[in-house]
Amino acid sequence: MDIKFFNTYSRKEEVFHPTGGNEVRMYTCGPTVYNFAHIGNFRAYIFEDILRRTLKYSGFKVVQVMNLTDVDDKTIRDSIAAGMPLDAYTEKFKDAFFRDLETLRVDKAEYYPEATKHIPEMIEIIKVLLEKGYAYVGEDKSVYYSVAKFADYGKLARIDMANQRAGVRVKTDEYGKDSVADFALWKVWDKNDGDVFWESPWGKGRPGWHIECSAMSMKYLGKTFDIHTGGIDNMFPHHEDEIAQSEAANGCRFVNYWLHCEHLIVNGQKMSKSLGNFFTLKDIFDKGFSGRELRWVLLGTHYRKKLNFTLDACTQAKLVLQKFSDFFVRLHSVKNSGAEGDSAETIMLKAKTSFSAAVKDDLNISEALASVFELQHEANKLVESGKMSAKGADAVLDQFRNFDRIFAVFDVDASLTSDVPEEVTKLVEERLTAKKTKNYARSDEIRKELLEKGWIVEDTAGGSRVKKAQ
Ligand code: AMP
Ligand code: ZN
Repeated sequence: MDIKFFNTYSRKEEVFHPTGGNEVRMYTCGPTVYNFAHIGNFRAYIFEDILRRTLKYSGFKVVQVMNLTDVDDKTIRDSIAAGMPLDAYTEKFKDAFFRDLETLRVDKAEYYPEATKHIPEMIEIIKVLLEKGYAYVGEDKSVYYSVAKFADYGKLARIDMANQRAGVRVKTDEYGKDSVADFALWKVWDKNDGDVFWESPWGKGRPGWHIECSAMSMKYLGKTFDIHTGGIDNMFPHHEDEIAQSEAANGCRFVNYWLHCEHLIVNGQKMSKSLGNFFTLKDIFDKGFSGRELRWVLLGTHYRKKLNFTLDACTQAKLVLQKFSDFFVRLHSVKNSGAEGDSAETIMLKAKTSFSAAVKDDLNISEALASVFELQHEANKLVESGKMSAKGADAVLDQFRNFDRIFAVFDVDASLTSDVPEEVTKLVEERLTAKKTKNYARSDEIRKELLEKGWIVEDTAGGSRVKKAQ
């Protein structure tokens, strides 16, 4: 079955065909490491993780690059304010970022290139752009990209440059440019940069932000690659500028599919550092929620819709995931060895098919979740009516392991490794025997004994299970 994605470039859903056969090459704009990432940023990274996992689930091999912007105005400004060298300052936030990704169960990309380690590659592209006449050295000695020279400029963001250029020149903080829409490829050093600079044919300075992504994507993925992603705010000017630089320098198409995720918002406004309306992961933990619970919240809204974040949603996530955990314990304890298993097999296959179709349809998360909840509901009904066999329960559990290849929240087998003390297990077994032999008095006695030890025993159609009393 084909995978379809909504390509921002065409504003249409398109069937996905990677250029390299079974291998998908994908670039994801990464964090600027001047501070801790907030959960709005993580919405973007979780969307990219779901995308990556869906591609793998569908049988593709994925080569993913996520850059780390470790030099720009903000990293320089804040490292100087902290009285630290730039690299020592950004190191702390790089480490925190990787720890956070792990907590949120985001699969690792193949490459995490850092901007400061790719300055020569950026200089090479700037040289080509100057040679080809797309760039110029401005009055202030910085190198700028001349947007007017690139005929397709504005096509991604659908900005009509003819009208833009007719406008009056607006005052900007970059005085050396010929036109306001032009952007810096190389910024000449000034005293605010302290000791942060690199030598270049245009004197000492540092790269502009956009050229970082052109250089690092080309190095690891080639001149043309399959998928480029980011938050919707990255589309303009960042991605527009990446296209202009890369296509002008290489003379070929830069990216085949552009995917952008909508913002995470709070009270109707984008969560952002500058508005001060943000939560870091630590803030979420301090409120008593786990990475798994936050992941559930962040993945639950389709990536092209705004996600309105509330702490209430985290509380809901806790409850829902607890119900799933109870459900897995229940299935694990089904002991019914009858040959029956057909109906479980049927509901499992139905869920498998609908789930797979949903994720392949531009990551249709609500449909995918509907398959998950339906399977849970149907399986519960079978257990309750005594029609679930151990074989059937295994099939259902297996399908949840399958869902988790993309969702990574269920932890289907966590209860098997949770430490139920041996004496408790023995009592549960003894109680089962008592029940089978219709010795209900003994069975009740054991129930009380277990409760005294802090364990609640529940009877299921196939057997019984224990859980810790709260
Ligand atoms: P930055 O570190 O600001 O470059 O952002 C890193 C990534 O997070 C980019 O892909 C942004 O588009 C994305 N992003 C920033 N704020 C939000 C938000 N509130 N919701 C979703 N994505 C965001
Ligand atoms: Zn980028």
